[in-house]
Parts: sequence; C-alpha cells; structure tokens
Amino acid sequence: MTDSCCCPPEAGSAVCELPAQNFQRPPRATNACPVCGEKGKPVQGQTVKALLSVSLREVQGVEYLFCKTQTCPVVYFSPEGEQTFTVEQVRERVYQKEPNAEEVFVCYCFRHTIGDIRSTSSENRAALVDDINTGVNAEQCACDLRNPQGSCCLGNVRSLIKRLEKSAVTA
Ligand SMILES: [Zn+2]
Repeated sequence: MTDSCCCPPEAGSAVCELPAQNFQRPPRATNACPVCGEKGKPVQGQTVKALLSVSLREVQGVEYLFCKTQTCPVVYFSPEGEQTFTVEQVRERVYQKEPNAEEVFVCYCFRHTIGDIRSTSSENRAALVDDINTGVNAEQCACDLRNPQGSCCLGNVRSLIKRLEKSAVTA
C-alpha cells in the first residue's frame, strides 16, 4: 500500500483513504453501458434511427451500442457513454428488458410475442422456429429496422423456448 497516500507516515498514511496524487481512475471499460456497466453490443445506425421515438436530430454519427441488461433502462448508448436512449425513447418494447411480458415481441419481423410462444405446444414452437428460419432465408426479415437489438431474433426465440420448457418441467 505504498501508493495509497501522499502524506508522511506521521500523518497516518498507512490508513489514509485519500487517493495518492498520481492516482488515476481505472479507464471505463470499452463499450460499457454508463448506467449498468455491462458491455454493449454494436448496432447499425439505421437500427437506432428506425427504433427511436425521439427526434432523429438527436442522433450523432457514432456507432451506438445496445444494452441488453434486463434491469437497465438504457437501450442505446454512445461508445463514450455520454449519450443514452432509454426504453421511453424507443418505439418498441424491448424483449431483453421485459422477457416475461406476454405482449412483447420476441420476433419483431414475423410478429411473434412472448405470450404466443408461451401459450403454444412444444410442436408448434418448433414449427414457429422453422417458419422464422424460412422467412429469414427468403429475405423477408428486417431485423436491423425492426428488432431493437438490430440483429436476428432466432437466438432469443430458441433461448425463450428452452427457458419455457425448462420451467414447465420443474413446475
Ligand atoms: Zn445498461
């Protein structure tokens, strides 16, 4: 603890809580959400523009990041963290923020809600995943413009199904 304080030992430097003069805050982790501190996922500019409910005059020419932390209100933030857009400033309700809300979409392009997937059978869930796949392959999706995360929902759909089937087993 030699670098904890700039005072002489007589001044109690051994237990001093003041930072040393050359103390520097650790740099903020790259691409970390300024509210929750978790690493964000880059999204394309058109995703932010398509999903914001506020004036697009707010949008800067930076690569925004998507925060998927459930308890965090931030949806998009700038790489330096000085600008954030929260759930109130986004046109769609965000699956990652409300993963248990029946009426929230998990597949934004083909309009499947969490409730739709929850209330259907295991066979229908598998068929629904196939149908999404077919739609993606037919280039009918527009995840970059419709899904707040700006990318394909299939991973979310699959993990939602897994989560539902696990809870059905343990219930
Ligand atoms: Zn966050």
